[in-house]
Formats: sequence, C-alpha cells, structure tokens
Amino acid sequence: MTGGSDARVTSVGTAAYTVPTDAPEGDGTFAWDATTLVVVTVAAGGRTGTGWTYGPTACASLVDGMLSGVVVGSDPFDVGGTNLSMRRAVRNAGLPGVAAMAVSAVDVALWDLKARLLDLPLHRLLGVVHPHVPVYGSGGFTTYDDAQLAAQLEGWTAQGIPRVKIKIGESGGSRTSRDLRRVRQARQVVGDDVELFVDANGAYDVGQARRMAGRLDAEGVRWFEEPVTSDDLDGLRRVRDSCACDVTAGEYGYDLTYFERMCAAGAVDCLQIDVTRCGGISEWLRAASVAAGHHLDVSGHCAPHLHVAAAAATPNFRHLEWFHDHVRIESMLFDGALDPSGGWVGPTDAPGHGLTLRRSEAEPFRV
Ligand SMILES: [Mg+2]
Repeated sequence: MTGGSDARVTSVGTAAYTVPTDAPEGDGTFAWDATTLVVVTVAAGGRTGTGWTYGPTACASLVDGMLSGVVVGSDPFDVGGTNLSMRRAVRNAGLPGVAAMAVSAVDVALWDLKARLLDLPLHRLLGVVHPHVPVYGSGGFTTYDDAQLAAQLEGWTAQGIPRVKIKIGESGGSRTSRDLRRVRQARQVVGDDVELFVDANGAYDVGQARRMAGRLDAEGVRWFEEPVTSDDLDGLRRVRDSCACDVTAGEYGYDLTYFERMCAAGAVDCLQIDVTRCGGISEWLRAASVAAGHHLDVSGHCAPHLHVAAAAATPNFRHLEWFHDHVRIESMLFDGALDPSGGWVGPTDAPGHGLTLRRSEAEPFRV
C-alpha cells in the first residue's frame, strides 16, 4: 500500500474542457456542437485519482467552493463516508443537477485514488461479476443525413458490435415520418441480426409514443428509450404496456429516490444509470441494488470509460452505452481508452480505472 493507512486527501483540483463535436449533433429535444467535460483530481499518498462529468463549468465551481473543504483531509479509503459528507454539504444548494454531477466526479476520482493507493485495478477493488462488459454503439443523431448515419452504423458493425442505437423524435416529435424512415434505413444497414435501439429523448406525447411503438415493434426494435419525458412515470408505463420493445429511462437520475420511484412505478424494463450524474460509483452500486430489488437490469448511460469497473461489479448489469460523442472525447483526451471490438470491453490490469488525462492534448480545449 502506498502512503500508509494514515494517508489523507491533500488536494482537490478541477479543470473544464469544451470539445467541439465532429459534426452537428442533435436528438428529439436538444442540439449541440460542443461538449464540456469537468475533470476532478484528488491526491493522497503520492497518488492521484481522476474523475469527470459531462456537465457545465458550474460543476467545477461547485467542487471548488462547496466540496473540496470536506474532501481535503478525508481518509481516501473511506469513500462512502466522504460521499455522504459531500451530499450533506450541498443540502441547501440542492443535490439534483449540477451538485450531483460535481459529487459524482469527486466520488469517481476518490474510487480511482483508493484503487491506485492499493495498486489495484478498480474492478478488482469493487469485485468482478462480469469480466466482459457488453457495449452498444450509440449516436445516430437526428442531424445526420443518410450517408452519415449509414457510415456510423457500418463502423460499429465492422467492429462486431451487435447492438446499435439511433436518435428519433426529431424536432420535438414533429417529424415521425422521417423518424420511421431513418429506423428502416438503420435496420437495412445493420441487418436483422443486430439489435436496434431508439432513443426519443422524451420528444413524444403518450398517444404518439404508443402509435410509434407499434411501428417500431414491426421493425424489430428492441429498446425504446424515453418515448415520453422521463418525468411522466405513468406515461412511460402506459407506453410500456402497449409494446414489445423494452421501455427505458433513468439518465436524469441524480439521487436514489428518483430511481426507486421510477422502478416502483413500473415505468421501465431496464433502468439507465449514469455514474457521472447519480452520485458516482458509490451511488451507482446502490441504485443498481434498487433496480435488482425490482427484478430489473441496469444499463450504463454515456461516459463509457468511467462505467466499466462499476459495470463489471454489478450483477444485474445489461450493457454500456458506447456513445459516439463521449467515446471520441475520452479517446482524444485520455491514455487507456478501450477497444469495443466484438461488442464488449474488458477492464484492464492498470491501477485504478486505467485512464490518465493527457494534459497537453487537453490544454487547447481548456475553458
Ligand atoms: Mg438517452
């Protein structure tokens, strides 16, 4: 063990980077041409742990102003205790949203630090259930033309990834004919043996989503993500009752109560959790247990490399979103990016989560 059992966290650092996308990206309810990554580093015993979240630069201010005071001086082996202290520290600021993203980035950095202090890969520290973590290709933005969509889908199938997801619900659900045409195109490109997923990002109303679900079933679509807003738990359940596709949601879950309510409402067939929003790896494990209590699988949302160790350690884990935008950023800015060939990634034997920020590559994007 490095640093001895009396090691204390000596510093918390933050940095934000905004990386332009490689083409305009959009879904049913949002469009963007750049993505901001807030990176948190924590140091103890001569080692550094790194975490991040895909949130606004306000996450960095919140870490600096409200969290570093409770993290500096904490025992790096007591991540759960520090996570609780952080959530208490933001009580009056409000946990859901920016604060939860900030807590998540610090929590992941602390888990990475603890594993590095023990010279262990993070998945070994957490305990492996699944040595292979299945992934699905995710992108298929509504802003893509037919050629861009086909090229992206062909890229994933060429890598042997047997699951792909595209965005539908274009322009707030007002272009359902184009949505269906793109779904048919996607099916044609990937063939019948690849699982086809869609994500409407909450763009449809319940009646529209139920009508779309029938059409998606006919195309063999397996996964219908956020057919209606994930705030409408009864609406999700009504869509779910009307179709064969799995209805899924959960990416905006910032606390355990959110996940419990979603599961208890019978709103989803698979619960999505985002380790960079839910409260970090500490809360991921608890949220996955909530889902397990409802006999549900969980799926990792975005930020693919930060999910791998936690995914490997989660019994009811289904798959991880290999999201085009974040895969590109993590491959550009970090050493240790993984290869999804064959449709899965395996955690490496490197200490911690195995990712190291390439500061000189990242510097031009710093904001
Ligand atoms: Mg989504």
